[in-house]
Amino acid sequence: MAKAPEKQTPGVYKRRIGDAMVTVINDGFLDIPFEILRGTGMADMKDLMKATFRDEPPRLTVNAFVIETGRNTVLVDAGGGTTTVYSMGLLLENLESAGFAPADFDTVLLTHIHPDHSSGLVGSAGEALFSRAEIVVNEDDLNFWSDTGLRDGRSAAATPYLDSADMVIGTYREQFRPSREGEVLPGIRLLALPGHTPGHSGYQLDSAGETLVMWGDTVHVPEIQVPRPQVTSEYDVDEGLAHANRRKIFDYAAKERHLVTGGHLHLPAFAHIVPDGAGFRLVPETWAVVV
Ligand SMILES: [Zn+2]
Repeated sequence: MAKAPEKQTPGVYKRRIGDAMVTVINDGFLDIPFEILRGTGMADMKDLMKATFRDEPPRLTVNAFVIETGRNTVLVDAGGGTTTVYSMGLLLENLESAGFAPADFDTVLLTHIHPDHSSGLVGSAGEALFSRAEIVVNEDDLNFWSDTGLRDGRSAAATPYLDSADMVIGTYREQFRPSREGEVLPGIRLLALPGHTPGHSGYQLDSAGETLVMWGDTVHVPEIQVPRPQVTSEYDVDEGLAHANRRKIFDYAAKERHLVTGGHLHLPAFAHIVPDGAGFRLVPETWAVVV
């Protein structure tokens, strides 16, 4: 295992959406091999990475988010915690840098129950770090990851993540609020985007006339999957559905000109998306002061 890199300044970025404050909390990063991506040729993927001066292997930024609406203090996803690789698990120290403690949160919104989004809910001793929070998740995801008849031995994409799902579901069993598409908190809607996992979801924040679309794992490698939305991955439980819902949310955000963010967009992780040829193009926002 490589030595952990020198310490960066806290990976925290604040942006107001209407009357709400959204804080991006970086949890670290994750390197993946090209071989797990499918839907375009290897040469095309390497060319796309080279064109952005980001060589192999693709490096995924891993983010969680805080939303303060005035009524609720909400965590969206929780990073990889202590159960994943050394390059993740910065959630707690970056939350602290941003002035938050786990006890501050009344709600956690999970985009799906994969380890880089949910294992950070559990501490190194197996304890519930967010003991006060209700855990909102699409009921299709909770059902899938809870039901050994649905998940075990049926999906190669699910197999690596059974233990981490068991840990999170077992630790928070009494705190889940299984949900469907629609409003889950005042001003926050769950957007069902199944495919990557059976209940993979985004969340839309609407406040004082402004909108943020948080698209979860719609995109793992922005350099490749934004221009080539057809590129799926070995992690997708249903690749066809993942592709269809990626196009659907890209089309929606582009048409409505909504600001977007995601679990694997590079910091500061806010962007717009525009159609470009057969695919799309991200237009990242620049770093800015909080106004
Ligand atoms: Zn992810």
